[in-house]
Amino acid sequence: MNVSPLYLRDAARIDPHGGAILRGNFLVERGAGGELHPTAAIPDPAEVLDCHGGLVTRAFAVAHHHIYSALARGMPSPQPPPSNFREILERVWWRLDRALDADVICACAQVTAVDLLKAGATFVIDHHSSPHAAAGSLDLIAQTLDSAGVGHLLCLELSDRDGPAALAAGLHESERFAATRKALIGLHASFTVSDALLAQAVALAKNFNTGVHIHVAEAEADQDETLARHGRRVVHRLADAGALDLPHTLLAHGLHLDASERAAIAASRAWVVQNPESNRHNNVGTFDARGLGERILLGTDGMHSDMLASLRAAYFDGQTTGGLAPQAAWQRLHRVDDYLAQLGVFRDNDLVVLDYDAPTPLTADNLEGHAVYGFGQQHVRHVVAQGRVVVQDREVRTLDEAKVRANARLQAARLWQAM
Ligand SMILES: [Zn+2]
Repeated sequence: MNVSPLYLRDAARIDPHGGAILRGNFLVERGAGGELHPTAAIPDPAEVLDCHGGLVTRAFAVAHHHIYSALARGMPSPQPPPSNFREILERVWWRLDRALDADVICACAQVTAVDLLKAGATFVIDHHSSPHAAAGSLDLIAQTLDSAGVGHLLCLELSDRDGPAALAAGLHESERFAATRKALIGLHASFTVSDALLAQAVALAKNFNTGVHIHVAEAEADQDETLARHGRRVVHRLADAGALDLPHTLLAHGLHLDASERAAIAASRAWVVQNPESNRHNNVGTFDARGLGERILLGTDGMHSDMLASLRAAYFDGQTTGGLAPQAAWQRLHRVDDYLAQLGVFRDNDLVVLDYDAPTPLTADNLEGHAVYGFGQQHVRHVVAQGRVVVQDREVRTLDEAKVRANARLQAARLWQAM
């Protein structure tokens, strides 16, 4: 590892929380908790990233992802095609996750790491599922992401759908991993989780001073089945179990919520993750932020790793659900750092350098308009993670991209065969 200081030459720094654009050279401190400082002179020796006047801002983070789905792209769809959300789960995702093994999981993590880094993201909050290969699966993902320079907050989605043996293995893996690393306790969704499992997950999360990460009301079916079996709506069931009292709890989706559930979330300590493109893909509805409070983050739900695409999709969804200003969309993209700071994860030296050559004047006052209408993955030139250069001139430095993709294609063919 390079231990000489890292300098950004000729950069335009954007504060992710707003404020002036500062032009010049910057020193990037190395390691966890490191910061970024304006500096006049660049000493010798130093590692220097020439930014050619490019925009520097906080690298992105995905607040809800499914690394395990990385090898599904181009996979033949079942015939006849699924006609509703429950069928999509049963006939696509639950068949896929049951066929995963260590080699496929590793290939998924490698290819996602490459995609994240090339899209300017240096942190992923992942929701993993491999019910027949649970043991050690979170370590495999963690080690792969660590060596790539991608920070992570992992969990394994627990449910009762695969029977007691798979659940016991999943609980063991969750507990073992959370004892050694910062992690969340994952649950699939209310409609696949028994009262006993819900209570166990909340107790584990409390024990490890973390939160529960669960899909909430992604489709109406989650509400219908929860009401029929438990006599309450999803959010009230989670609240009664204590899941919303945990400050690190993540509720993915939150689409089919009534006013009382929105009020319960707003009054709680939990965070909601919007996944706009996945919601369109599954035809389950449009995220509506009204009544949920300000603790809203952005994810991709396994669709891709490009948070600038998620930013734009969230902005468009906001136009049909009461309005969302570009400034508010940009804040939603970066609010994940408020969430992570609660967990003691600081990313001031996680940076992305964009070579965005603005076609109109760009200032601190209209930056978010440029972000929503103009910024794209094609502008990601350099990426720094915890003060370490992980992408330079669009090339990933921590993984051999060609080898990763070639191996992923082999593993994908094997996975599709096994399904
Ligand atoms: Zn999800």
